[in-house]
Amino acid sequence: MTTQVLFAAKPERWIEYQAPLARALKEVGIDANLATDIPASDVEYIVYAPNSPVQDFSIFPKLKAVLNLWAGVETIAPNPTLKVPLARMVDHGLTQGMKEWVTGHVLRHHLGMDAHIINPDRNWVPNAPPLAEQRPIAMLGLGELGAVCAQTLASLGFPVSGWSRNQKNIDGVNCFSGNSGLQDALSGAEIVVLLLPNTPATENVLNASSLGLLAKGAAIINPGRGPLIDDDALLEALESGQVGHATLDVFRTEPLPRGHPFWTHPNVTVTPHIASETRTWTASQCVAENVRRGEAGEPFLHLVDRSVGY
Ligand code: NAP
Repeated sequence: MTTQVLFAAKPERWIEYQAPLARALKEVGIDANLATDIPASDVEYIVYAPNSPVQDFSIFPKLKAVLNLWAGVETIAPNPTLKVPLARMVDHGLTQGMKEWVTGHVLRHHLGMDAHIINPDRNWVPNAPPLAEQRPIAMLGLGELGAVCAQTLASLGFPVSGWSRNQKNIDGVNCFSGNSGLQDALSGAEIVVLLLPNTPATENVLNASSLGLLAKGAAIINPGRGPLIDDDALLEALESGQVGHATLDVFRTEPLPRGHPFWTHPNVTVTPHIASETRTWTASQCVAENVRRGEAGEPFLHLVDRSVGY
C-alpha cells in the first residue's frame, strides 16, 4: 500500500526536502506518495512547518500524525483542529549547531573577547580572564538542546546549574526543577542561557525579579524564544548594569523591527534566529522513522505533550 505523505511548508523548503525525504522514506521501507498537493481526503501524514498555509487539520479524515520540521511548536501545539499525534523535530544537526553557538557566545563573554576585538584606542590592558571554574552559568531548559549545552559547558570547567520542569540528573550539572528551583538555578549566575520552549508557563521567566537574582553585570544568552524575556525589564537591567550584555537570537517579533531598541543598544548583540538550524538529511531521517513507526503500529518518537505546550 502506498502511504500518502503531504509536505506542507514554504515552497523553498520543498526544493530542499523533496529528494532527501523521498530517499529517507525509501530507506525505512515506506512506499510513499510524497507530494505537496495530495487530496485532503487521502492524506495520512503531514510533514509540517508551522508557517505553512495548512492551519485547519479537520479537513484530513485519514490523518495519522503531524511531523513538525521545527523543534519549537508554540504556534501549532494550541491548534484546536489538530486531533492526531504531533511530533517535533529532534535532529543531530540542530543539537550540534546549538552546542557550537552556545559555547561560542558563552566563551565570548567569559573571555571578554570584545575588549580586544573592539579596541579603537589600542589600549594595552593585560587583565587575564578568570578560569571557567570561577564563572557560574545557569542553563534554563534541560531538554534535547539544553542538556547537551549544559554538559558541554560543564566539561569546559564551568559550574553549571540547570533548570527544568521535571527533576533531571545530568552528570556534572547541578539540576533544579519546578518554580522553587528557578531561584536556586539563577542565584549568583554570571551567564544565563535560555533553552526553554515558549509556553504560557515560561513566558517572561526572565523578568525584573529573576534578573535581580543574577550576579551584577551578568550576560544573558537567549537562543530559546523571544517571549521568555520581559524586554522592558531586560532594558532596565542593562541600564542599571545588573545585566552587562545580552546576546539575543530570538525575539517577540521576527524579523526584529528596525526601530527596536535592541538593535542600537551598545550592550545587546542581535543575531537573526540562526543559533541552530535543522539539517535536511538528518531531519528527513527523523521524519521517515516516525512514518515507519506509524505504519508498523509502534509509538512515535518526540511526541509533543500538548497539555503543557511542548
Ligand atoms: P525540549 O527537549 O522540549 O526541552 C525543553 C526543556 O524546557 C525541558 O528541559 C523542559 O523541562 C523545560 N521546560 C519546559 N517548560 C518548563 C517550565 N515551565 N519550567 C521549567 N522548565 C521547563 O526542547 P529542545 O529541543 O531542547 O528546544 C528548546 C527550545 O529551543 C525550543 O522549544 C525552541 O524554542 C528553541 N530552539 C531555537 C532554535 C534557534 O535557532 N534559535 C533552534 C532550535 C530550537 P522537562 O525536561 O522537565 O520537560
